Amino acid sequence: MRRQLASLLFGASTVVFGNAPAAAQSAPVVTLTRLECGTNAAPTDVGARFSDTYAYNGLKVQLTYSCYLIRHGDDYLVWDTGFPMAAGPTSPTTSILDLLAQLKVTPAQVKYVGISHYHGDHVGQVNTLPQATLLIGKGDWAVLTDTKAAPIVSPAFFAPWVSGGGKVEPLAGDKDVFGDGTVMVLNMPGHTPGHHSLLVRLKEMGNVLITGDLAHFRENYDTDGVPTFNTDRAASLASIDRFKQIAKNLKATVIIQHDARDVGKLPAFPGAAK
Ligand SMILES: [Zn+2]
Repeated sequence: MRRQLASLLFGASTVVFGNAPAAAQSAPVVTLTRLECGTNAAPTDVGARFSDTYAYNGLKVQLTYSCYLIRHGDDYLVWDTGFPMAAGPTSPTTSILDLLAQLKVTPAQVKYVGISHYHGDHVGQVNTLPQATLLIGKGDWAVLTDTKAAPIVSPAFFAPWVSGGGKVEPLAGDKDVFGDGTVMVLNMPGHTPGHHSLLVRLKEMGNVLITGDLAHFRENYDTDGVPTFNTDRAASLASIDRFKQIAKNLKATVIIQHDARDVGKLPAFPGAAK
Protein backbone atom coordinates (compact mmCIF):
# COMPACT_ATOMS: atom_id res chain seq x y z
CA MET A 1 0.00 0.00 0.00
CA ARG A 2 2.74 2.35 1.02
CA ARG A 3 4.72 1.40 -2.06
CA GLN A 4 1.64 1.95 -4.21
CA LEU A 5 1.13 5.40 -2.72
CA ALA A 6 4.79 6.22 -3.23
CA SER A 7 4.67 5.20 -6.87
CA LEU A 8 1.46 7.17 -7.32
CA LEU A 9 3.10 10.23 -5.81
CA PHE A 10 6.17 9.69 -7.92
CA GLY A 11 3.95 9.33 -10.96
CA ALA A 12 2.16 12.53 -10.08
CA SER A 13 5.42 14.40 -9.59
CA THR A 14 6.71 13.09 -12.93
CA VAL A 15 3.64 14.54 -14.58
CA VAL A 16 4.22 17.89 -12.87
CA PHE A 17 7.89 18.02 -13.86
CA GLY A 18 7.01 16.63 -17.28
CA ASN A 19 4.81 19.66 -17.89
CA ALA A 20 7.39 22.23 -16.85
CA PRO A 21 9.41 22.38 -20.11
CA ALA A 22 6.20 22.75 -22.13
CA ALA A 23 5.18 25.70 -19.94
CA ALA A 24 8.62 27.28 -20.37
CA GLN A 25 8.39 26.86 -24.14
CA SER A 26 5.11 28.72 -24.26
CA ALA A 27 6.59 31.85 -22.61
CA PRO A 28 5.99 34.68 -25.08
CA VAL A 29 8.89 35.87 -27.23
CA VAL A 30 10.07 39.32 -26.13
CA THR A 31 12.13 41.47 -28.51
CA LEU A 32 13.19 45.11 -28.72
CA THR A 33 13.59 47.03 -32.00
CA ARG A 34 14.73 50.63 -32.29
CA LEU A 35 12.94 52.98 -34.64
CA GLU A 36 14.27 56.25 -36.08
CA CYS A 37 11.73 58.92 -35.07
CA GLY A 38 13.37 62.12 -36.27
CA THR A 39 16.27 63.39 -38.35
CA ASN A 40 19.28 64.42 -36.33
CA ALA A 41 20.42 68.04 -36.37
CA ALA A 42 24.14 68.82 -36.22
CA PRO A 43 25.89 68.01 -32.91
CA THR A 44 24.42 70.22 -30.18
CA ASP A 45 26.29 72.42 -27.68
CA VAL A 46 24.70 70.78 -24.66
CA GLY A 47 25.93 73.48 -22.26
CA ALA A 48 23.31 75.87 -23.59
CA ARG A 49 20.05 74.28 -22.39
CA PHE A 50 20.94 70.89 -21.01
CA SER A 51 22.47 71.96 -17.69
CA ASP A 52 21.10 74.13 -14.90
CA THR A 53 24.55 74.19 -13.25
CA TYR A 54 26.63 75.60 -16.13
CA ALA A 55 28.17 72.18 -16.75
CA TYR A 56 29.32 70.90 -20.16
CA ASN A 57 30.01 74.33 -21.65
CA GLY A 58 31.35 73.82 -25.12
CA LEU A 59 30.64 70.06 -25.14
CA LYS A 60 29.02 69.01 -28.40
CA VAL A 61 26.94 65.82 -28.50
CA GLN A 62 25.19 64.15 -31.41
CA LEU A 63 21.62 63.93 -30.20
CA THR A 64 19.14 61.61 -31.87
CA TYR A 65 15.40 60.88 -31.76
CA SER A 66 14.57 57.27 -31.04
CA CYS A 67 11.39 55.25 -30.53
CA TYR A 68 11.09 51.57 -29.72
CA LEU A 69 8.95 48.59 -30.66
CA ILE A 70 8.63 45.87 -28.04
CA ARG A 71 7.18 42.54 -29.08
CA HIS A 72 5.53 40.36 -26.45
CA GLY A 73 4.23 37.23 -28.18
CA ASP A 74 1.60 38.44 -30.63
CA ASP A 75 1.17 41.84 -28.95
CA TYR A 76 3.26 44.97 -29.29
CA LEU A 77 4.09 48.12 -27.35
CA VAL A 78 5.38 51.22 -29.14
CA TRP A 79 7.48 53.29 -26.72
CA ASP A 80 7.56 57.01 -27.60
CA THR A 81 6.59 58.36 -31.01
CA GLY A 82 9.19 61.04 -31.84
CA PHE A 83 8.53 63.98 -34.10
CA PRO A 84 5.54 64.27 -36.45
CA MET A 85 6.14 63.83 -40.18
CA ALA A 86 5.63 67.60 -40.64
CA ALA A 87 8.25 68.90 -38.19
CA GLY A 88 10.52 70.57 -40.73
CA PRO A 89 14.18 69.56 -40.85
CA THR A 90 13.90 67.28 -37.81
CA SER A 91 10.99 65.25 -39.29
CA PRO A 92 11.47 61.49 -39.53
CA THR A 93 12.26 60.22 -43.02
CA THR A 94 9.87 57.26 -42.55
CA SER A 95 6.75 57.22 -40.38
CA ILE A 96 6.28 54.76 -37.52
CA LEU A 97 3.40 53.13 -39.42
CA ASP A 98 5.65 52.58 -42.46
CA LEU A 99 8.43 51.19 -40.25
CA LEU A 100 5.91 48.81 -38.65
CA ALA A 101 4.74 47.75 -42.12
CA GLN A 102 8.35 46.93 -43.05
CA LEU A 103 8.38 44.63 -39.99
CA LYS A 104 4.99 43.20 -41.04
CA VAL A 105 3.39 44.48 -37.85
CA THR A 106 -0.15 45.79 -38.29
CA PRO A 107 -1.48 48.73 -36.24
CA ALA A 108 -4.09 46.33 -34.79
CA GLN A 109 -1.26 44.34 -33.17
CA VAL A 110 -0.04 47.44 -31.31
CA LYS A 111 -1.92 46.93 -28.06
CA TYR A 112 -0.18 49.75 -26.20
CA VAL A 113 1.50 53.03 -27.03
CA GLY A 114 3.61 54.29 -24.13
CA ILE A 115 4.75 57.90 -23.90
CA SER A 116 7.71 58.70 -21.63
CA HIS A 117 6.58 62.33 -21.29
CA TYR A 118 4.60 65.03 -23.07
CA HIS A 119 7.39 66.92 -24.89
CA GLY A 120 6.90 67.45 -28.62
CA ASP A 121 9.80 65.22 -29.73
CA HIS A 122 8.15 62.19 -28.04
CA VAL A 123 4.48 62.54 -28.95
CA GLY A 124 4.54 63.56 -32.63
CA GLN A 125 3.10 60.36 -34.11
CA VAL A 126 1.07 59.05 -31.19
CA ASN A 127 -2.21 59.88 -32.96
CA THR A 128 -1.29 57.49 -35.80
CA LEU A 129 -1.97 54.63 -33.33
CA PRO A 130 -5.47 55.59 -32.11
CA GLN A 131 -6.54 51.97 -31.53
CA ALA A 132 -3.78 51.38 -28.96
CA THR A 133 -4.26 51.84 -25.23
CA LEU A 134 -2.31 54.95 -24.29
CA LEU A 135 0.04 54.55 -21.30
CA ILE A 136 1.12 57.93 -19.92
CA GLY A 137 2.08 59.31 -16.52
CA LYS A 138 -0.87 60.60 -14.53
CA GLY A 139 0.90 63.92 -13.93
CA ASP A 140 1.48 64.44 -17.65
CA TRP A 141 -2.08 63.42 -18.50
CA ALA A 142 -3.40 65.99 -16.01
CA VAL A 143 -1.41 68.75 -17.76
CA LEU A 144 -2.48 67.63 -21.25
CA THR A 145 -6.15 67.55 -20.31
CA ASP A 146 -6.18 70.79 -18.32
CA THR A 147 -8.49 72.91 -20.44
CA LYS A 148 -7.65 76.09 -18.50
CA ALA A 149 -3.91 75.97 -19.19
CA ALA A 150 -2.24 76.86 -22.49
CA PRO A 151 -1.59 73.64 -24.40
CA ILE A 152 1.95 72.20 -24.04
CA VAL A 153 1.72 70.44 -27.41
CA SER A 154 -0.84 70.47 -30.18
CA PRO A 155 -4.11 68.99 -28.80
CA ALA A 156 -4.37 67.06 -32.10
CA PHE A 157 -1.70 64.61 -30.89
CA PHE A 158 -3.88 63.27 -28.06
CA ALA A 159 -7.30 63.87 -29.61
CA PRO A 160 -8.02 60.12 -30.09
CA TRP A 161 -7.86 59.67 -26.28
CA VAL A 162 -9.04 63.07 -25.06
CA SER A 163 -12.17 63.27 -27.22
CA GLY A 164 -12.23 60.23 -29.49
CA GLY A 165 -13.06 57.53 -26.95
CA GLY A 166 -9.65 55.82 -27.10
CA LYS A 167 -8.49 53.82 -24.10
CA VAL A 168 -6.01 55.57 -21.81
CA GLU A 169 -4.32 54.45 -18.60
CA PRO A 170 -2.90 57.43 -16.70
CA LEU A 171 -0.16 55.84 -14.56
CA ALA A 172 0.36 56.99 -10.98
CA GLY A 173 3.21 54.50 -10.53
CA ASP A 174 4.85 51.62 -12.39
CA LYS A 175 2.96 49.39 -14.85
CA ASP A 176 3.67 45.74 -15.59
CA VAL A 177 2.50 46.04 -19.19
CA PHE A 178 1.93 42.38 -20.11
CA GLY A 179 1.53 41.01 -16.57
CA ASP A 180 4.65 38.82 -16.47
CA GLY A 181 7.30 41.38 -15.46
CA THR A 182 9.10 41.34 -18.83
CA VAL A 183 8.06 44.88 -19.80
CA MET A 184 7.76 47.47 -17.03
CA VAL A 185 6.91 51.16 -17.40
CA LEU A 186 8.73 52.78 -14.45
CA ASN A 187 7.62 55.89 -12.61
CA MET A 188 10.47 58.42 -12.94
CA PRO A 189 8.92 61.86 -12.36
CA GLY A 190 10.82 65.15 -12.41
CA HIS A 191 11.63 66.01 -16.01
CA THR A 192 7.86 66.36 -16.33
CA PRO A 193 5.29 65.63 -13.59
CA GLY A 194 4.48 62.14 -14.94
CA HIS A 195 7.74 61.18 -16.66
CA HIS A 196 8.35 57.40 -17.04
CA SER A 197 11.19 55.13 -18.17
CA LEU A 198 11.01 51.57 -19.55
CA LEU A 199 12.51 48.23 -18.50
CA VAL A 200 12.60 45.35 -21.00
CA ARG A 201 13.86 41.96 -19.79
CA LEU A 202 15.29 40.02 -22.75
CA LYS A 203 16.42 36.40 -22.79
CA GLU A 204 19.69 36.88 -24.69
CA MET A 205 20.64 40.54 -24.18
CA GLY A 206 19.42 40.60 -20.59
CA ASN A 207 17.82 43.60 -18.94
CA VAL A 208 17.56 46.85 -20.88
CA LEU A 209 16.60 50.17 -19.28
CA ILE A 210 15.40 52.90 -21.63
CA THR A 211 15.59 56.35 -20.05
CA GLY A 212 12.93 58.46 -21.69
CA ASP A 213 14.42 61.91 -20.96
CA LEU A 214 15.54 61.09 -17.40
CA ALA A 215 18.90 62.07 -18.94
CA HIS A 216 19.59 63.39 -22.44
CA PHE A 217 23.17 62.15 -22.98
CA ARG A 218 25.77 60.04 -21.24
CA GLU A 219 27.77 62.83 -19.54
CA ASN A 220 24.49 64.19 -18.20
CA TYR A 221 23.52 60.72 -16.83
CA ASP A 222 26.96 60.09 -15.29
CA THR A 223 26.93 63.40 -13.36
CA ASP A 224 23.21 63.45 -12.37
CA GLY A 225 22.76 66.53 -14.53
CA VAL A 226 19.42 68.30 -14.83
CA PRO A 227 18.51 70.45 -17.85
CA THR A 228 17.13 73.99 -17.61
CA PHE A 229 13.80 72.75 -19.00
CA ASN A 230 12.65 70.53 -16.16
CA THR A 231 9.62 70.47 -13.86
CA ASP A 232 10.96 69.35 -10.48
CA ARG A 233 14.71 69.18 -9.76
CA ALA A 234 14.38 67.21 -6.50
CA ALA A 235 12.08 64.66 -8.11
CA SER A 236 14.50 64.35 -11.05
CA LEU A 237 17.41 63.59 -8.71
CA ALA A 238 15.34 61.01 -6.82
CA SER A 239 14.33 59.38 -10.11
CA ILE A 240 17.93 59.32 -11.38
CA ASP A 241 18.92 57.64 -8.08
CA ARG A 242 16.17 55.02 -8.39
CA PHE A 243 16.98 54.37 -12.06
CA LYS A 244 20.69 53.88 -11.29
CA GLN A 245 19.89 51.48 -8.42
CA ILE A 246 17.68 49.40 -10.73
CA ALA A 247 20.39 49.43 -13.42
CA LYS A 248 22.93 48.18 -10.87
CA ASN A 249 20.69 45.53 -9.29
CA LEU A 250 19.54 44.12 -12.64
CA LYS A 251 22.93 44.59 -14.35
CA ALA A 252 20.96 46.36 -17.05
CA THR A 253 22.16 47.92 -20.30
CA VAL A 254 21.16 51.60 -20.13
CA ILE A 255 19.93 53.27 -23.31
CA ILE A 256 19.72 57.07 -23.20
CA GLN A 257 17.13 57.74 -25.87
CA HIS A 258 18.63 60.97 -27.23
CA ASP A 259 22.27 59.77 -27.27
CA ALA A 260 23.29 58.21 -30.59
CA ARG A 261 26.14 56.38 -28.81
CA ASP A 262 23.67 54.62 -26.50
CA VAL A 263 21.05 53.84 -29.13
CA GLY A 264 23.87 52.12 -31.05
CA LYS A 265 24.00 49.44 -28.32
CA LEU A 266 20.91 47.95 -29.98
CA PRO A 267 20.91 46.25 -33.40
CA ALA A 268 20.16 48.57 -36.32
CA PHE A 269 16.63 48.47 -37.79
CA PRO A 270 15.12 46.07 -38.83
CA GLY A 271 17.18 43.95 -36.42
CA ALA A 272 15.83 43.26 -32.95
CA ALA A 273 17.50 42.65 -29.61
CA LYS A 274 16.32 39.32 -28.20
ZN1 LIG B 1 13.23 64.51 -25.68
